[in-house]
Amino acid sequence: MKTNRTITRAFCVELQQELSIVAARREYFSQELPRARFNFLCSSEPCRALGVKITGVRYDVKPQEHPTFVAAHYRANPNYEHHADCEWVDEAVETAVGQEAESEAESELRKVKRKLDDYIDVFEPTINDRVKSGPPRGTPDDAAPEKTEDIALPVETMKAKQDKQNRTSNLERLVDSFRQAQASLTKEELALLTLRIPGQGEVSLRAYFRHIKFAQLNDERRVLYGGGLVERYGTGFKFKFFDRLQGKLVTLYVSPSQMQAYRSSRYLSELLSHADEVRFFTVFALGKLVASPSGKSVSVEIEDLRHLAIVLGPSKDAEETSSKGPAI
Ligand SMILES: [Zn+2]
Repeated sequence: MKTNRTITRAFCVELQQELSIVAARREYFSQELPRARFNFLCSSEPCRALGVKITGVRYDVKPQEHPTFVAAHYRANPNYEHHADCEWVDEAVETAVGQEAESEAESELRKVKRKLDDYIDVFEPTINDRVKSGPPRGTPDDAAPEKTEDIALPVETMKAKQDKQNRTSNLERLVDSFRQAQASLTKEELALLTLRIPGQGEVSLRAYFRHIKFAQLNDERRVLYGGGLVERYGTGFKFKFFDRLQGKLVTLYVSPSQMQAYRSSRYLSELLSHADEVRFFTVFALGKLVASPSGKSVSVEIEDLRHLAIVLGPSKDAEETSSKGPAI
């Protein structure tokens, strides 16, 4: 059968793991050179047993600000039929029977979500201590939560299939989803999207992201973001935001020892190695703003490097017209 749901996870043959495309991108760029592309199979067991391939698109391209934004995503391979029990096949989705109970608002929301390659319903920002204390070697840092939380419960009814939600604890995945929503939806469509944060309730997706210039001290339950430049301190770095907060410089410092202890430090270093080629970086951080003791500057403090995502700004040699800075 053909799939009709948006494919948000696939099984990576080389890593023997089920991954979101954002996690696959991180693993791809964490390889030593020369990097090898991955092969993906459908995440559903019966399809995998049949060798049903999935195509990974743009996971070998670093996240970057670009006028024509194309998100990394999975796509069904037209040469393969999926098993009837495949989680990405849902007969109810396109039928009138599946939609008759839907209100106009629900139908509108469903259509907006379908415009995105990886819509996130639930974001779990809490760092899992079990994972934090020592993931098995070679395990992507978000694989454990995705493995347990992203997989829907066994499908017993069509209703259960329809209720399936995209859950993740991977901030970079949420950031990619938000960036695609910003780039491809109208303001009105973006306003319809909500995000559930366990322990915090439902918030509007737009409001969960706050540009640094509109941030407030001790406003810690949001993703703070903004453009700026990086200074390296050995393997560590200091990010200086362009925008000031109440006239004060805002920075985010990551020490060499934090970098050395981080599983994906090679990926972060790879992104930061482009400092001379890009106009700026955009940093997304789930942290809190703390005033320096002198009161002259403000720092963004994050508990864990998994609460940081970096996007490359436009290349310096790109057209001048695209130099408006990071989208707000
Ligand atoms: Zn399948």
